Amino acid sequence: MAYTYDPKNIFAKILTGEIPNKTVLETEHSLAFRDIYPQAPVHVLVIPKGAYVCYDHFAQEASDAEILDFNRVIGEVCRMEGLEAGGYRVISNAGRDGVQEVPHLHVHILAGRPLGRMLA
Ligand code: C5P
Repeated sequence: MAYTYDPKNIFAKILTGEIPNKTVLETEHSLAFRDIYPQAPVHVLVIPKGAYVCYDHFAQEASDAEILDFNRVIGEVCRMEGLEAGGYRVISNAGRDGVQEVPHLHVHILAGRPLGRMLA
């Protein structure tokens, strides 16, 4: 599948192998890898391989297979990392107000310390 990536999209460079990553899990449609600046003992990013910017874009443009795979990988990473006992947080920042740095859909999986309440 050919994608046109935004050159500012650092995750595109991870997907093409230009930048190395610590892969946790890779499937046909998704990649999970360790965040380079971890905010918790476990900090894994999950991205679709397709060039989707955020969830609303993903929901509109991605195939059911991609959406299913992405969600399954998120859960599978939590299972593989043994997070069910202590719990975890899955978040996705989007756009200006969400303070999204990288314009490629990603979720953060955070765990391994008390994460506090996060409603603001
Ligand atoms: O959600 P947001 O766009 O702010 O997060 C981007 C994340 O990508 C950051 O947590 C940053 O540490 C991570 N990152 C990375 N590897 C890179 C560049 C950014 O893990 N090469």
